[in-house]
Amino acid sequence: MFGITVINEDAIDVHLNITQQRHPRWKKVAKEILESVHLHDCGVLNEDEQHIGIRAVCIQVSHPTLDPHTVDVILRKPYPAKVEWGKCSCTGGNSGRCKHASALLKYLTT
Ligand SMILES: [Zn+2]
Repeated sequence: MFGITVINEDAIDVHLNITQQRHPRWKKVAKEILESVHLHDCGVLNEDEQHIGIRAVCIQVSHPTLDPHTVDVILRKPYPAKVEWGKCSCTGGNSGRCKHASALLKYLTT
């Protein structure tokens, strides 16, 4: 999206606290969300020298007609960045470790 490596998968593992897993489940789930184009309107919300805030909306996979979830992440530079903060409007998204946030972060690796 930015023409550079904004973040790499290792930083996502660290954020999700699963650095010990060889085949983390988030990679499969994030891939499914991205392939089914459930993530939309990804854009930069704010940016300064050290941080970049990114927001996207994610259609609910199991309830596509309901309001989509809003996902926010703040990354800490330099690039490839680290995840400083994350939040999603889904029930499990308070710490930004849900599948929607994972999909957004995965999107930013491409
Ligand atoms: Zn979520």
